[in-house]
Amino acid sequence: NLFGEVRDGVVISRFGMHADVEDADGSVHRCNIRRTIRSLVTGDRVRWRPGVEGGATVKGIVEAVHERTSVLTRPDFYDGVKPIAANINQIVVVSAILPELSLNIIDRYLVACETLGVEPLLVLNKTDLLDDEGRAFVDEQMDIYRHIGYKVLMVSSHRKEGLVELEQALTDRVSIFAGQSGVGKSSLLNALLGLELSNAEILTNDVSDNSGLGQHTTTASRLYHFPHGGDVIDSPGVREFGLWHLEPEQITQGFVEFRTYLGGCKFRDCKHDTDPGCAIREAVEKGEINESRFANYHLILETMSEVQAKTRRNF
Ligand code: GDP
Ligand code: ZN
Repeated sequence: NLFGEVRDGVVISRFGMHADVEDADGSVHRCNIRRTIRSLVTGDRVRWRPGVEGGATVKGIVEAVHERTSVLTRPDFYDGVKPIAANINQIVVVSAILPELSLNIIDRYLVACETLGVEPLLVLNKTDLLDDEGRAFVDEQMDIYRHIGYKVLMVSSHRKEGLVELEQALTDRVSIFAGQSGVGKSSLLNALLGLELSNAEILTNDVSDNSGLGQHTTTASRLYHFPHGGDVIDSPGVREFGLWHLEPEQITQGFVEFRTYLGGCKFRDCKHDTDPGCAIREAVEKGEINESRFANYHLILETMSEVQAKTRRNF
Protein backbone atom coordinates (compact mmCIF):
# COMPACT_ATOMS: atom_id res chain seq x y z
CA ASN A 1 0.00 0.00 0.00
CA LEU A 2 1.34 3.37 -1.05
CA PHE A 3 -0.20 6.38 0.64
CA GLY A 4 0.57 10.07 0.36
CA GLU A 5 0.22 12.95 2.79
CA VAL A 6 -3.07 13.58 4.60
CA ARG A 7 -5.13 16.29 2.89
CA ASP A 8 -8.36 18.22 3.43
CA GLY A 9 -11.42 17.33 1.42
CA VAL A 10 -15.19 17.26 1.32
CA VAL A 11 -17.40 14.23 0.73
CA ILE A 12 -19.43 14.87 -2.42
CA SER A 13 -21.11 11.47 -2.34
CA ARG A 14 -21.18 8.47 -0.07
CA PHE A 15 -22.33 5.03 -1.15
CA GLY A 16 -21.79 1.66 0.43
CA MET A 17 -18.20 1.25 1.55
CA HIS A 18 -16.91 4.15 -0.51
CA ALA A 19 -17.00 7.92 -0.60
CA ASP A 20 -16.13 10.34 -3.39
CA VAL A 21 -13.94 12.99 -1.84
CA GLU A 22 -13.20 16.31 -3.48
CA ASP A 23 -9.76 17.61 -2.69
CA ALA A 24 -9.06 21.30 -2.00
CA ASP A 25 -7.69 21.45 -5.59
CA GLY A 26 -11.07 20.36 -7.02
CA SER A 27 -10.10 16.83 -8.06
CA VAL A 28 -12.38 13.97 -7.01
CA HIS A 29 -11.10 10.71 -5.55
CA ARG A 30 -12.99 7.55 -4.76
CA CYS A 31 -11.95 6.53 -1.26
CA ASN A 32 -12.25 3.71 1.18
CA ILE A 33 -13.34 4.65 4.68
CA ARG A 34 -11.43 3.87 7.86
CA ARG A 35 -13.36 1.40 9.96
CA THR A 36 -13.11 3.70 12.96
CA ILE A 37 -15.36 6.26 11.21
CA ARG A 38 -18.86 5.62 12.43
CA SER A 39 -20.76 7.98 10.20
CA LEU A 40 -19.87 9.67 6.92
CA VAL A 41 -22.28 11.50 4.65
CA THR A 42 -22.31 13.97 1.78
CA GLY A 43 -21.06 17.35 2.94
CA ASP A 44 -18.73 15.98 5.60
CA ARG A 45 -15.37 17.76 5.82
CA VAL A 46 -12.65 15.13 6.04
CA ARG A 47 -8.96 14.39 6.26
CA TRP A 48 -8.06 11.95 3.52
CA ARG A 49 -4.94 10.39 2.08
CA PRO A 50 -4.41 9.60 -1.58
CA GLY A 51 -3.21 6.10 -2.37
CA VAL A 52 -3.97 2.79 -3.95
CA GLU A 53 -5.64 0.02 -2.02
CA GLY A 54 -8.15 -2.64 -2.89
CA GLY A 55 -8.24 -2.28 -6.67
CA ALA A 56 -7.60 0.43 -9.19
CA THR A 57 -10.96 2.19 -8.78
CA VAL A 58 -10.18 3.27 -5.24
CA LYS A 59 -7.82 6.23 -5.05
CA GLY A 60 -7.50 6.94 -1.37
CA ILE A 61 -8.75 6.55 2.14
CA VAL A 62 -10.76 8.78 4.45
CA GLU A 63 -8.85 9.00 7.72
CA ALA A 64 -10.96 11.34 9.87
CA VAL A 65 -14.11 13.47 9.86
CA HIS A 66 -14.29 17.04 11.13
CA GLU A 67 -17.05 17.97 13.55
CA ARG A 68 -20.32 18.81 11.77
CA THR A 69 -21.95 22.21 12.07
CA SER A 70 -25.31 20.70 11.13
CA VAL A 71 -26.72 17.36 10.14
CA LEU A 72 -29.85 16.54 8.21
CA THR A 73 -31.45 13.25 9.18
CA ARG A 74 -34.35 11.09 8.16
CA PRO A 75 -36.20 8.43 10.09
CA ASP A 76 -34.75 4.98 9.63
CA PHE A 77 -36.38 1.70 10.51
CA TYR A 78 -33.23 0.13 11.92
CA ASP A 79 -31.26 3.02 13.35
CA GLY A 80 -34.09 5.33 14.34
CA VAL A 81 -32.31 8.27 12.76
CA LYS A 82 -30.07 8.25 9.73
CA PRO A 83 -27.90 11.20 8.70
CA ILE A 84 -28.20 12.13 5.01
CA ALA A 85 -26.26 15.38 4.68
CA ALA A 86 -23.78 17.34 6.78
CA ASN A 87 -22.74 20.97 7.16
CA ILE A 88 -25.61 22.55 5.25
CA ASN A 89 -26.16 26.15 6.33
CA GLN A 90 -29.15 27.14 4.22
CA ILE A 91 -32.45 25.47 3.42
CA VAL A 92 -34.15 26.84 0.34
CA VAL A 93 -37.85 26.31 0.99
CA VAL A 94 -39.48 26.31 -2.43
CA SER A 95 -43.19 26.89 -2.84
CA ALA A 96 -45.46 27.87 -5.73
CA ILE A 97 -49.10 28.74 -6.39
CA LEU A 98 -49.27 25.54 -8.44
CA PRO A 99 -50.03 22.80 -7.26
CA GLU A 100 -51.08 24.99 -4.28
CA LEU A 101 -49.70 27.75 -2.11
CA SER A 102 -49.75 26.20 1.34
CA LEU A 103 -48.68 28.45 4.20
CA ASN A 104 -49.05 25.44 6.46
CA ILE A 105 -46.33 23.61 4.57
CA ILE A 106 -44.11 26.70 4.60
CA ASP A 107 -44.57 26.94 8.36
CA ARG A 108 -43.66 23.27 8.75
CA TYR A 109 -40.43 23.77 6.87
CA LEU A 110 -39.62 26.87 8.91
CA VAL A 111 -40.08 24.93 12.14
CA ALA A 112 -37.77 22.23 10.80
CA CYS A 113 -35.16 24.86 9.83
CA GLU A 114 -35.34 26.54 13.24
CA THR A 115 -35.00 23.20 15.01
CA LEU A 116 -31.98 22.26 12.91
CA GLY A 117 -30.49 25.71 13.43
CA VAL A 118 -30.15 26.19 9.67
CA GLU A 119 -31.15 29.45 8.02
CA PRO A 120 -34.13 29.23 5.68
CA LEU A 121 -34.57 31.09 2.40
CA LEU A 122 -38.14 31.23 1.12
CA VAL A 123 -38.45 30.99 -2.65
CA LEU A 124 -41.78 31.41 -4.34
CA ASN A 125 -41.51 29.93 -7.84
CA LYS A 126 -43.78 30.19 -10.91
CA THR A 127 -44.44 33.93 -10.69
CA ASP A 128 -45.09 33.75 -14.45
CA LEU A 129 -48.48 32.26 -13.61
CA LEU A 130 -49.53 35.38 -11.69
CA ASP A 131 -51.34 38.42 -13.05
CA ASP A 132 -51.04 41.74 -11.19
CA GLU A 133 -53.82 40.88 -8.79
CA GLY A 134 -52.44 37.40 -8.11
CA ARG A 135 -49.00 38.82 -7.58
CA ALA A 136 -50.30 41.36 -5.06
CA PHE A 137 -52.10 38.58 -3.19
CA VAL A 138 -49.04 36.36 -3.03
CA ASP A 139 -46.83 39.28 -2.05
CA GLU A 140 -49.14 39.98 0.86
CA GLN A 141 -48.92 36.36 1.99
CA MET A 142 -45.14 36.51 1.76
CA ASP A 143 -45.13 39.72 3.83
CA ILE A 144 -46.16 37.56 6.79
CA TYR A 145 -42.69 36.00 6.53
CA ARG A 146 -40.77 39.15 5.67
CA HIS A 147 -42.24 40.79 8.79
CA ILE A 148 -40.86 38.10 11.08
CA GLY A 149 -37.40 38.35 9.56
CA TYR A 150 -37.28 35.76 6.81
CA LYS A 151 -35.85 36.45 3.38
CA VAL A 152 -38.29 35.84 0.52
CA LEU A 153 -37.51 35.71 -3.19
CA MET A 154 -40.11 35.60 -5.96
CA VAL A 155 -38.82 33.74 -9.01
CA SER A 156 -39.81 32.01 -12.20
CA SER A 157 -37.60 29.20 -13.38
CA HIS A 158 -39.44 29.16 -16.72
CA ARG A 159 -38.91 32.86 -17.43
CA LYS A 160 -35.59 32.94 -15.58
CA GLU A 161 -36.85 35.80 -13.43
CA GLY A 162 -35.33 36.48 -10.03
CA LEU A 163 -32.58 33.95 -10.63
CA VAL A 164 -29.76 36.47 -10.23
CA GLU A 165 -30.96 37.31 -6.72
CA LEU A 166 -31.29 33.61 -6.00
CA GLU A 167 -27.76 32.97 -7.29
CA GLN A 168 -26.47 35.68 -4.97
CA ALA A 169 -28.26 34.15 -2.00
CA LEU A 170 -26.67 30.76 -2.75
CA THR A 171 -23.08 32.02 -2.94
CA ASP A 172 -20.72 31.03 -0.09
CA ARG A 173 -23.24 28.59 1.33
CA VAL A 174 -24.08 24.92 1.33
CA SER A 175 -27.80 24.71 0.59
CA ILE A 176 -30.46 22.12 0.10
CA PHE A 177 -33.69 22.63 -1.84
CA ALA A 178 -36.80 21.43 -0.08
CA GLY A 179 -40.51 21.71 -0.71
CA GLN A 180 -43.59 19.89 -1.91
CA SER A 181 -43.44 17.80 -5.04
CA GLY A 182 -44.27 19.83 -8.17
CA VAL A 183 -43.20 23.28 -6.93
CA GLY A 184 -40.24 23.36 -9.32
CA LYS A 185 -37.19 22.28 -7.30
CA SER A 186 -35.70 20.24 -10.16
CA SER A 187 -36.45 22.99 -12.67
CA LEU A 188 -34.71 25.57 -10.48
CA LEU A 189 -31.72 23.36 -9.78
CA ASN A 190 -31.34 22.53 -13.46
CA ALA A 191 -31.51 26.21 -14.38
CA LEU A 192 -28.98 27.17 -11.69
CA LEU A 193 -26.57 24.29 -12.17
CA GLY A 194 -26.82 24.28 -15.94
CA LEU A 195 -27.26 20.55 -16.12
CA GLU A 196 -30.04 18.01 -16.28
CA LEU A 197 -30.30 16.78 -12.76
CA SER A 198 -32.72 13.92 -12.61
CA ASN A 199 -33.43 11.24 -10.09
CA ALA A 200 -32.30 8.76 -12.73
CA GLU A 201 -28.85 10.33 -12.75
CA ILE A 202 -28.50 10.09 -9.01
CA LEU A 203 -29.47 6.40 -9.19
CA THR A 204 -26.96 5.77 -11.97
CA ASN A 205 -24.23 7.18 -9.76
CA ASP A 206 -25.03 4.73 -7.04
CA VAL A 207 -25.28 1.68 -9.24
CA SER A 208 -21.87 2.38 -10.80
CA ASP A 209 -20.44 1.71 -7.35
CA ASN A 210 -18.90 -1.75 -7.62
CA SER A 211 -18.97 -2.53 -3.91
CA GLY A 212 -22.11 -4.53 -4.59
CA LEU A 213 -23.97 -2.41 -2.05
CA GLY A 214 -25.09 0.21 -4.53
CA GLN A 215 -28.71 -0.86 -4.65
CA HIS A 216 -29.14 -0.16 -0.96
CA THR A 217 -28.18 3.46 -1.30
CA THR A 218 -30.68 4.83 -3.78
CA THR A 219 -31.20 7.85 -1.55
CA ALA A 220 -27.49 8.74 -1.51
CA SER A 221 -27.12 12.47 -1.80
CA ARG A 222 -24.59 14.35 -3.86
CA LEU A 223 -22.92 17.74 -3.54
CA TYR A 224 -22.88 20.02 -6.60
CA HIS A 225 -21.17 23.37 -7.16
CA PHE A 226 -23.13 26.28 -8.60
CA PRO A 227 -21.20 27.97 -11.43
CA HIS A 228 -21.73 31.35 -9.71
CA GLY A 229 -20.51 30.05 -6.31
CA GLY A 230 -21.98 28.09 -3.46
CA ASP A 231 -22.89 24.43 -3.18
CA VAL A 232 -26.05 22.38 -3.06
CA ILE A 233 -26.59 18.91 -1.68
CA ASP A 234 -29.37 17.07 -3.43
CA SER A 235 -31.11 13.70 -3.61
CA PRO A 236 -34.73 12.57 -3.57
CA GLY A 237 -34.34 11.91 0.15
CA VAL A 238 -32.99 15.38 0.83
CA ARG A 239 -35.86 17.03 -1.06
CA GLU A 240 -38.38 15.07 0.96
CA PHE A 241 -36.88 16.13 4.24
CA GLY A 242 -39.53 17.48 6.55
CA LEU A 243 -40.89 17.50 10.02
CA TRP A 244 -40.85 14.34 11.99
CA HIS A 245 -40.58 13.52 15.63
CA LEU A 246 -40.44 16.97 17.15
CA GLU A 247 -41.36 17.67 20.73
CA PRO A 248 -44.14 20.23 21.28
CA GLU A 249 -41.57 22.54 22.88
CA GLN A 250 -39.46 22.48 19.69
CA ILE A 251 -42.50 23.37 17.62
CA THR A 252 -43.26 26.31 19.88
CA GLN A 253 -39.65 27.50 19.65
CA GLY A 254 -39.81 27.00 15.89
CA PHE A 255 -42.26 29.90 15.61
CA VAL A 256 -39.71 32.66 15.95
CA GLU A 257 -42.16 35.51 16.53
CA PHE A 258 -43.70 33.66 19.53
CA ARG A 259 -40.47 33.73 21.47
CA THR A 260 -40.70 37.24 22.93
CA TYR A 261 -44.23 36.54 24.22
CA LEU A 262 -43.69 33.11 25.78
CA GLY A 263 -42.69 34.39 29.21
CA GLY A 264 -45.91 36.40 29.42
CA CYS A 265 -48.42 33.53 29.59
CA LYS A 266 -50.23 33.28 32.90
CA PHE A 267 -49.68 29.54 33.29
CA ARG A 268 -46.34 27.82 32.88
CA ASP A 269 -47.95 24.86 31.09
CA CYS A 270 -49.99 27.15 28.82
CA LYS A 271 -51.03 25.37 25.62
CA HIS A 272 -51.37 28.75 23.89
CA ASP A 273 -54.86 27.78 22.87
CA THR A 274 -57.90 28.95 24.83
CA ASP A 275 -55.97 29.12 28.09
CA PRO A 276 -56.72 32.23 30.15
CA GLY A 277 -53.96 34.83 30.11
CA CYS A 278 -52.18 33.40 27.07
CA ALA A 279 -49.76 36.06 25.83
CA ILE A 280 -49.50 34.41 22.41
CA ARG A 281 -53.24 34.46 21.80
CA GLU A 282 -53.45 38.04 23.03
CA ALA A 283 -50.72 38.98 20.54
CA VAL A 284 -52.78 37.33 17.79
CA GLU A 285 -55.85 39.31 18.87
CA LYS A 286 -53.84 42.53 18.80
CA GLY A 287 -52.61 41.67 15.30
CA GLU A 288 -48.99 41.36 16.44
CA ILE A 289 -48.86 37.66 15.55
CA ASN A 290 -50.37 36.57 12.25
CA GLU A 291 -53.54 34.47 12.52
CA SER A 292 -52.48 31.95 9.90
CA ARG A 293 -49.21 31.31 11.76
CA PHE A 294 -51.15 30.76 14.99
CA ALA A 295 -53.58 28.36 13.28
CA ASN A 296 -50.76 26.45 11.63
CA TYR A 297 -48.96 26.17 14.95
CA HIS A 298 -51.89 24.23 16.33
CA LEU A 299 -52.28 22.17 13.15
CA ILE A 300 -48.63 21.15 13.31
CA LEU A 301 -48.95 20.18 16.98
CA GLU A 302 -51.99 18.05 16.14
CA THR A 303 -50.45 16.22 13.19
CA MET A 304 -47.26 15.70 15.16
CA SER A 305 -49.06 13.83 17.92
CA GLU A 306 -50.91 11.77 15.28
CA VAL A 307 -47.63 10.90 13.55
CA GLN A 308 -46.09 9.90 16.84
CA ALA A 309 -49.02 7.66 17.74
CA LYS A 310 -48.78 5.99 14.32
CA THR A 311 -45.01 5.53 14.60
CA ARG A 312 -45.39 3.86 17.98
CA ARG A 313 -47.90 1.43 16.44
CA ASN A 314 -45.60 0.62 13.50
CA PHE A 315 -42.51 -0.22 15.53
P1 GDP B 1 -40.27 19.39 -8.27
O1 GDP B 1 -41.15 18.21 -8.05
O2 GDP B 1 -40.36 20.35 -7.13
O3 GDP B 1 -38.85 19.04 -8.58
O4 GDP B 1 -40.87 20.19 -9.52
P2 GDP B 1 -40.44 20.15 -11.06
O5 GDP B 1 -39.19 20.94 -11.29
O6 GDP B 1 -40.44 18.75 -11.54
O7 GDP B 1 -41.64 20.98 -11.71
C1 GDP B 1 -42.98 20.56 -11.62
C2 GDP B 1 -43.76 21.17 -12.76
O8 GDP B 1 -43.79 22.60 -12.63
C3 GDP B 1 -43.16 20.90 -14.13
O9 GDP B 1 -44.20 20.66 -15.05
C4 GDP B 1 -42.42 22.17 -14.46
O10 GDP B 1 -42.33 22.40 -15.86
C5 GDP B 1 -43.31 23.21 -13.80
N1 GDP B 1 -42.57 24.44 -13.46
C6 GDP B 1 -41.37 24.52 -12.87
N2 GDP B 1 -40.98 25.81 -12.75
C7 GDP B 1 -41.97 26.55 -13.28
C8 GDP B 1 -42.17 27.97 -13.47
O11 GDP B 1 -41.35 28.82 -13.13
N3 GDP B 1 -43.35 28.34 -14.04
C9 GDP B 1 -44.29 27.45 -14.44
N4 GDP B 1 -45.40 27.92 -15.01
N5 GDP B 1 -44.13 26.13 -14.30
C10 GDP B 1 -42.99 25.68 -13.73
ZN1 ZN C 1 -49.84 30.86 26.09
